[in-house]
Amino acid sequence: MQDENACDPSSVAESNARDRHGLVLVSTPIGNLGDVTFRALEALRTADLILCEDTRVTAKLLQANAIGARCEPLHEHNEDQRIPGLLARLKQGARIALVSDAGTPLVSDPGFRLVRAAIAEGIEVTGVPGANAAVLALILSGLPPHPFLFLGFAPTRGAARVTHFKGLRAAEQVGLAATMIWYEAPHRVGEMLADLAEVFGAREAAVARELTKRFEEVRRGDLVELAEYYGGHQARGEIVVVVAPGAAEAVGAAEIDRMLGVALATMSVKDAAAAVASVTGVGRKIVYARALEMKG
Ligand code: SAM
Repeated sequence: MQDENACDPSSVAESNARDRHGLVLVSTPIGNLGDVTFRALEALRTADLILCEDTRVTAKLLQANAIGARCEPLHEHNEDQRIPGLLARLKQGARIALVSDAGTPLVSDPGFRLVRAAIAEGIEVTGVPGANAAVLALILSGLPPHPFLFLGFAPTRGAARVTHFKGLRAAEQVGLAATMIWYEAPHRVGEMLADLAEVFGAREAAVARELTKRFEEVRRGDLVELAEYYGGHQARGEIVVVVAPGAAEAVGAAEIDRMLGVALATMSVKDAAAAVASVTGVGRKIVYARALEMKG
C-alpha cells in the first residue's frame, strides 16, 4: 500500500524536525554533486558536527552548497577511540551528522561501530537516503535486481579471492540464487574478472564504471568476455562488478527437507516455506505443502 505522505512536501519539514537531535547518517553523491538531496543539505546545515572520512573531500560538498558546519574525521583507524567522546556529546543533546567520502555511509565505509554503540546507548539514529554505487550498478546492469547479495570488496590477494568466489559457488550449489555485487579498484579489476570467470564460467555480468560522472560506462557481457577485455585494457576510475545468479540448479527433495528442517526450527511454516522457496526457486506451494507435512 502506498504511504499517503510519500510525495507530500509538508513531510519534508516534518522529517527535518524529527531529525533535530541524535546521530544522522547522511548519504552524499558518488561523483556528481547534483545528486545531493534537499534533506542531506538540511541535515548537514543543522548539524553541530559533521563526521567525515576525509575532511578535504567533504569540504568540497559543503563549499559548493555554502555550508560552514564543522567537520571532524572519523575513519577506520580512529573510530573506536572516538566513540566514547561522541556518545557523550550525543547524550548532551548534540546533533551529529555522519557522512563518508561518497555515497551511503557504512556501506564499505566507516561508521558501523559508532551506529551500534549509539543504538546500545538508546541514542536516536536516523538516516538521509541517497546515492549508492552498488544499487545504481545493479539497476543499470540488466541483471535480476533481487535477490541481490552485496559483498563489498573481494579479498585483494589471488588465492584468498578465489577461495571467496568458490565459497559463493558452493553456496549456489546448495540453493543461493542471487545477483552478486562487488566494489573493485581499477588496477585489480582485470585479475578479479579472470578469477570470477574461472569459478563461475561464462556467466552474464556487468562492469559499471564512473557512475554519475562524465565517463560513466556500463559494459555488459559474460565473465569470459569481460575478463578478456579488462585483461587487455587498463580500467580507470571507480568500479562496481555485478554477476548474474547461477541458472537454477535442480535442488533435490533431500536438500529441500534439510533446508526446511533448519528454517522450521526458528520460523513459522509460512515463513520457512517462503524462505526456502525463494533461495531454491522451487514453487512456494510445493515447499509449503512439504513444510506442513514435516511440521505435522
Ligand atoms: N559508500 C559508497 C557507496 O554508497 O557506494 C561506497 C564506498 S567504497 C569505499 C568506494 C567504492 O565504491 C569504489 O572503490 C567503487 O568500487 C565504488 N564506487 C563509488 N563511487 C562509484 C562510482 N561513481 N562509480 C562506480 N563505482 C563507484
